[in-house]
Amino acid sequence: ATGATAGTAASGGSRPIDVMSLYPKDMNIYGDSGNVLTVRRRLALYGYESVMHYYNQGDEWPERVDLILGGGGQDTGQKKIIDDFFMRADLIRSLADEGVPMLMICGMYQLFGEYFETVDGTRLDGIGVIGAYTVGQDVRMIGNLVERSDEFGDVIGYENHSGQTFLREGVSPLGRVEHDGRGNNGEDHTEGARVNNVIGTYMHGSLLPKNPKIADFLIRKACERRYGAFEPQVTDSARGELDRLERFAVEARRVAAA
Ligand code: GLN
Repeated sequence: ATGATAGTAASGGSRPIDVMSLYPKDMNIYGDSGNVLTVRRRLALYGYESVMHYYNQGDEWPERVDLILGGGGQDTGQKKIIDDFFMRADLIRSLADEGVPMLMICGMYQLFGEYFETVDGTRLDGIGVIGAYTVGQDVRMIGNLVERSDEFGDVIGYENHSGQTFLREGVSPLGRVEHDGRGNNGEDHTEGARVNNVIGTYMHGSLLPKNPKIADFLIRKACERRYGAFEPQVTDSARGELDRLERFAVEARRVAAA
């Protein structure tokens, strides 16, 4: 959906939510931009207006950010953004502390941790929002991923990473890998992490179209922070579309879990 069509579906349209896509040029593989489209579309269906900020290295940081989405990337992409990311580290850390909802997939999830040591031995320091560290290995972990999350139920996606991530003691995973997939490291059955309203995960897919509960969690938190409450204004046609999107997600989860 383009911004224009998303706008016409909204009932009010005058309640802005500032959404940031973090490093879309270098950190956006396996369809992670679908997460941005999903958040924009659902905001519109709920009667909010998304104000988009596509932030790449060297750009000016916007005045307001209510929700941040980051994607996966190759080790080379991670190396490209790391210096700029470090300049923004304090800012991002304080936004995370304040409860700004964020979704970080794969490569950005790794950099939200303490460090990522790539398979060629380069050490990239992370910003430490998530108590976790990642070490690259020769064998990539690739395939469908199905996990069980206490908060979101069954979550499905697709993983492709060399990095093995280990959570520090006391850090909650997003979910547990029950049968399909490797998750954080292929060893302890954990997948992803959850700190405050920050979700880190290896799930590409795109994640949010297949798991609308997570999309709505991010949206709800963003609206509550900005407006004190999440108050969807849903027209009949928007309701019909939300129902169709839900049926798509249920079917995708059924196929993935089969
Ligand atoms: N480059 C990282 C790794 O291989 C992240 C990959 C990704 O984002 N899919 O572990």
